[in-house]
Order: sequence, then structure tokens, then C-alpha cells
Amino acid sequence: MTTRFERSAAYYERALARIVGGVNSPARSFKAVGGGAPVFMQRGRGPYLYDVDGNRYIDYLAAYGPGILGHAHPEIVAAIARAAEGGTLYGTPTPWEVELAERLHAALPSLERIRFVSTGTEAVMSAVRVARAFTGRPKVIKMEGCYHGHSDFALIAAGSGPSQLGTPDSAGVTEGVARDVITVPYNDLDSLGEALDAWGREVAAVIIEPIVGNFGVVNPAPGYLEGVKRLAHEHGALLIFDEVITAFRVAYGGAQTLLGVEPDLTALGKAIGGGVPLGAYGGRAEIMDWVAPLGPAYQAGTLAGNPLSMQVALAALEILGRPGVYERLEAESAYLADGLVAIARRHGHTVQLGRAGSMFTLFFCDEPVTDYKGAERSDPQKFAAMFRGFLDRGVLLAPSRFEAWMLSVQHTRADLDETLQIADEVLRQMVR
Ligand code: PMP
Repeated sequence: MTTRFERSAAYYERALARIVGGVNSPARSFKAVGGGAPVFMQRGRGPYLYDVDGNRYIDYLAAYGPGILGHAHPEIVAAIARAAEGGTLYGTPTPWEVELAERLHAALPSLERIRFVSTGTEAVMSAVRVARAFTGRPKVIKMEGCYHGHSDFALIAAGSGPSQLGTPDSAGVTEGVARDVITVPYNDLDSLGEALDAWGREVAAVIIEPIVGNFGVVNPAPGYLEGVKRLAHEHGALLIFDEVITAFRVAYGGAQTLLGVEPDLTALGKAIGGGVPLGAYGGRAEIMDWVAPLGPAYQAGTLAGNPLSMQVALAALEILGRPGVYERLEAESAYLADGLVAIARRHGHTVQLGRAGSMFTLFFCDEPVTDYKGAERSDPQKFAAMFRGFLDRGVLLAPSRFEAWMLSVQHTRADLDETLQIADEVLRQMVR
């Protein structure tokens, strides 16, 4: 064990004794990048994280998406302090949730009615429930490799071929749940059409990450999302966009405004919370009005719409709504991503880039990636070597080849140039 991570290693030892697997979310484990102690962080400021050993990292993990404002943004710190002064939980309606719902509707006009929850998992789970209630149908079609949180239905994996009924991908998920989930490949309208032809009358909803963030960043082929919507509606099924990553990340109004395809229901999370726990779901009024207390689809939450999350989210959206924010994120992301691709190729690595606004993935494979099977061809050894090379030199990435680099508004050109300089060293030393 190198001394650079000595204290992290010590915390990991202690964590293993009392926290399952030493981590509070499996994605944080270093299992996919050769194992060992993950890095324990202690402080964040701007685009940087500082670990318990005092090492500084340029942070491109961005907490798996929420960190679009960087760490300890002064306006977020002020909003948290303000909220704390006024008390953080009332169990009653508040003015801020009204304001936030109005702001979200202005950003994503498809959100005629909204419910706030605390996580992306809850947002998706609840959206699927109301879709089932509204249609009176049990089944859901999802895309292979897309992640929609850890509720039971969302943990059903693909079958062996296109349009198969699912099998549970986690112990503890029943066959009964699996029977109600159908998985088809992303970017493949034929498979979706087949599945809908076979099970259409039982399908409540097709759920999709409109731009994928969970098998690396993968964009929809031109016309694909329009096709998904048309096919779903032809079969009486609803279209649910899981914009937990993409909303306020790929554009202020999410993938749906960027690409001009409106779903019936949308799940939100991550970036809308400005770094505190917040999820939301919403959509067409006639569907959402099936939710309690108006309708028979039950969904509730002690922490839902809490004053802290509401006030921080309002501050976050205020910052993100300023002119030029997304233009700058787009330009900086292109600069970094294109720079990394050029360096990788100069050192003899075959790479593919998937990018949408301020998130991107470098895949180590021969062909452009359009679906999960393609993403799986990205070389895990090369990714692990790159990850470790960056970590050792103070650049933090997500410890999985299926995740994305994510920028914040606080990364400067100097941070990106430092990253590219380090990349030159990392990619030069990596085995081709
Ligand atoms: N949907 C998507 C697209 C996600 O990426 C995630 C989290 N990675 C979720 C849902 C679940 O969100 P949470 O972890 O906040 O429950």
C-alpha cells in the first residue's frame, strides 16, 4: 500500500467492519478497477475534492451527476444557511415548493403537475406506479443497460436476446416482478416494435434515459426517441423519460427540450437538488392527477418537499438559469473531451467518445458505441489503468467504465489544461 492513500486505507478497514462492503452505495467500491480501498473524501471546494490524506483532486465524478455547481458554491452555502436558520422540516406545505414546481414547469413544460420526492429511485418508482394506475396495465419496457434506481422493477436485466421477458438482476427481486418487465436494446426500434407487438396490450409504459448516462454517455440516433414515443403511443403505453442525470445537465430543460421530444412522464433527481437530496416526478395533468390525494395511486414522503431541499434547489436553478451557463459548459466539455481523445489517439489507443453537453465517456473500443453491448466492448483493463493513473495524479473519475466524466460550472480552463497535461502522462504510460 502506498502512503499516498494511507488514511483512506485505514478508514476502509474500519468501514468494512460496520458498513456493508465498506461503502454506502456499491458504485463507490473500487471493485471494477482492481479493488482495494476507495478514497475517503473530507472536503470539497469549487472543482476540487480533498481526501483524508490531504491529496487534492480535480473532481469529474461530480457525485455521479448532481455536482454541476461544484463544491461549496457560495450561493448554495448561503441557501443552506438560510434554510437552516428557518428550520429544515415542517411536515406542511411551504411557499418554496410552489415556487420550485413553477420553475421546473417553466424549464420542462411537459411537467404540468409535479411531486417532489427525495431520490431518483423514488421518482422513477412513483412514475411507473402512476403509469400503471392510469393505464390499468402491469408491464414496463426498459432499455438494456439503462439504470433507473434500485426499486424492484428497475433491477430486471435483459434476457439473452432482444425483446425477452426479464430475469431478476438482484437477489431478493421476485420472478413475479420480472414477469412484468421487458428489456430491449437501446437505439433499436425494431426490437421495441417486436416487444410491443408481443405484449403491447399489457404494457403501461416504456421507460428510457433519453440520453444514456449509465452505460457511458450514449446519444439517441436521429429519430430514435420520436420512434419510441410513436410506438409506445400506438400501443396505448405511456412514455417515461428518466432525466435523473440529464435534466439540468445536458441542457437546462433536460434532454426533452434539447431534443424536442416530450414524454408523458419525467423522473428527475441529481442536479435539481444542487447537492442536497431531491427527486421529483411529473408530467401530463390527466395522468398525474391519479396520484393521491386526488387519485387512487398512493405515493407519499415524510421528507418530500422539505424546506431545505426546496430552498437549495431554487438557488441551484437560479444559478443554472443565468445566460451563458450551458453554452460555457458545452464549450468547456468539448475542449476537454476532444483534447483527451486527441491525446489518447496520439499515444496509440483506440477510443470512442460519447458526449452530451457537460458529460462524456471515453470508450476503449473499435466501434462507436450505440447500445449496451457496444459499451461492454470497452476494455475494462484499459479503463482501470486510466482510472488509477488519474487517481494517483490528482484527477478523480468514477470507478467504472460505464460512467461519465462530468464538469461543473466551477472548473476553469486552467483545471482542464492541468487535466490534459496529466492525461498526456497517463495515456503515454498505459499499455496499448
Ligand atoms: N435514474 C438514473 C438515470 C440514474 O442515473 C440514477 C442514479 N444513478 C437513478 C435513476 C437513481 O437515483 P438515486 O441514486 O438518487 O436513487
